[in-house]
Amino acid sequence: MEGLYIHVPFCKSKCNYCDFYSKPVNGDGLCLDIKNYSLALKKHIRNLSHLLKKYTFDTIYFGGGTPSILGEELALIFEEIKNNFNIAKNYEATFEANPESITPSLAKSCFEAGFNRVSVGLQSAIDKELSLLGRIHTKKDFEKGLDILKSEGFSDISADIMLGIPNQTMKTLKETLDFILSLDLTHISAYGLKIEEGTPFYKNLDPLSLANEKEQAEFYLATVEKLQKGGFNQYEISNFAKEGFISRHNYKYWTGENYLGLGPFAYSYMENTRFFINSDIQNFEKAENIQNVIEIEERLTEKDKLFEYIMLRLRLKEGISLSYIEKSSPTKAKPLLEKCKKLQTEGLGILEEDRFYLTPQGFLLSNSVINYLEIN
Ligand code: SF4
Repeated sequence: MEGLYIHVPFCKSKCNYCDFYSKPVNGDGLCLDIKNYSLALKKHIRNLSHLLKKYTFDTIYFGGGTPSILGEELALIFEEIKNNFNIAKNYEATFEANPESITPSLAKSCFEAGFNRVSVGLQSAIDKELSLLGRIHTKKDFEKGLDILKSEGFSDISADIMLGIPNQTMKTLKETLDFILSLDLTHISAYGLKIEEGTPFYKNLDPLSLANEKEQAEFYLATVEKLQKGGFNQYEISNFAKEGFISRHNYKYWTGENYLGLGPFAYSYMENTRFFINSDIQNFEKAENIQNVIEIEERLTEKDKLFEYIMLRLRLKEGISLSYIEKSSPTKAKPLLEKCKKLQTEGLGILEEDRFYLTPQGFLLSNSVINYLEIN
């Protein structure tokens, strides 16, 4: 079955570290932007219904940007999807939300429409760190948003936190971790801050305020340990879930399953082909036919697929299957096994019958590990 991703390219304001495609909108302009974008999405969904008849989507994910900024319109777009696409009975439907934009009407309409999962951006429980990141919410806003979601019926709720925030210390990180562990969440994502070109941080940040490599590693390992002790299993480099609550949608990205992305610059991977919508918001809205703005990035060969299998699966705790590699490329299997054994002696990976997977220390060095495996 397939995954469906809908991109919502609007935010109330731009965070200092963000390089995602999203337009800051506020005040009067916001309503018009939402109306036009929602109309365009619904048009494209209707136009695609015939073409996508052979697929059944079992995960739907609204990401951004800030999907919760759409308010009740979010539920209406989801209705359009349900009316035009085949949706599996046991689907997972997630929307991303920023704390300050969670309102009772948003939560109620989305729950009634059938969303069953919410991913909320917390980043930190320390208000000073939030304001440094350029986030416009406080810890209190997050608590308020969570209460609203729960009282409207949501029980599968994920939160994002960030490691390596400027001037973050082990003490403030632990405060954030204690806070999220006290909230009865089902899923936590913990990402390291990256300084991306073109962002305000890239231009203005004092490099001395950033954690060095050793501190970053300490933050990461402390996070893994604390979340695991708190009942969250690490199932991916940056993702932790209570039993039965992994993100089924994101899991598709790491296991090479088909997913279709809708929205400006949204990526898709269908039938071994990676493609994206090559248009900004305006052109996406104007396009009569989504096929006119699609650009093929690459068609994966068997060799590419094996490379992706190893690269992506090593992000997951379940790791790679050695017999799968033996079947796809018999000449690669033996040298790969030797290298896996070496990584095991260095404490970076574990060989368990047919499976090889990385330890938290291995996750920390995953880029070097993949280079070392020379799977290209
Ligand atoms: S809310 Fe998210 S998408 Fe929007 S600017 Fe901040 S980090 Fe980027």
